[in-house]
Amino acid sequence: MEEHDKRRVGEQIEPGDRPKAPGRLELLQRFVNSYNHDFPRDWDRIGTPEKAEAWLKEKRLVAPGDRISDAGVARLIEMREAIRALSIANRGGSPEAAADVIQGLSGGAQLRVAVDETGRTALEPARGGVDGVVATLLGILHEAQLTGEWSRMKACRHCEYAFFDRSKNRSAAWCAMSICGNRTKNRAYYRRRRTT
Ligand SMILES: [Zn+2]
Repeated sequence: MEEHDKRRVGEQIEPGDRPKAPGRLELLQRFVNSYNHDFPRDWDRIGTPEKAEAWLKEKRLVAPGDRISDAGVARLIEMREAIRALSIANRGGSPEAAADVIQGLSGGAQLRVAVDETGRTALEPARGGVDGVVATLLGILHEAQLTGEWSRMKACRHCEYAFFDRSKNRSAAWCAMSICGNRTKNRAYYRRRRTT
C-alpha cells in the first residue's frame, strides 16, 4: 500500500474494503483507528492538541470554541487504547485491565437523556470538552453493548486495527486477509523454516 493510501486508513479507506461498523458505532471505530501502531507515531490523528481539536471538531464531538490541552490529549489516547484493548478482548482475552482504565477515565463523563418533540430519546453529554467526548464515546459503547453489536468489534491480531466482524461464525481475526492475514502467515512460514 502506498503512503498516500496508508494515511487514509481508518477514515477514507477500510482495509480489505470491509464496511465500517453500523450506526454510531462507526464513530467509536474511527476513534480507535485514529492511530495504527504499524504507522509512524506522528500520524496519530489525535496525537497533539491541534490535531485532536481538528479531528474532534470534524466529528462534531466538541464545540467549535473548545480547546484541548496536552492533558486532554493524554486522556483521550489512554481512552482510545483501553477501548482498543476491549476490542482485542472481543476475540478472546481478558477485558479487566482495560475496563479498569476506562473506569478511571470516566469520572467526569456524564450523560443525560435528551427527548425530542417526537418522544425519541438520545444520550447526550452533560458537559463539553474532553469530558463530553469521553461521555459520548462511552454512550456509544453502551448502546452497542445493548444491541449486541459490540461483540463484533474486534482488533486485528497483527496491527490491532478495529474492524467490524460481519462473518457468520464471528471468526475473523485480521483487518484484511490480504494485508495482515498473509503477513502473519508468511511470518509463521519463515519461523518454521528457520527452526527446521
Ligand atoms: Zn491488521
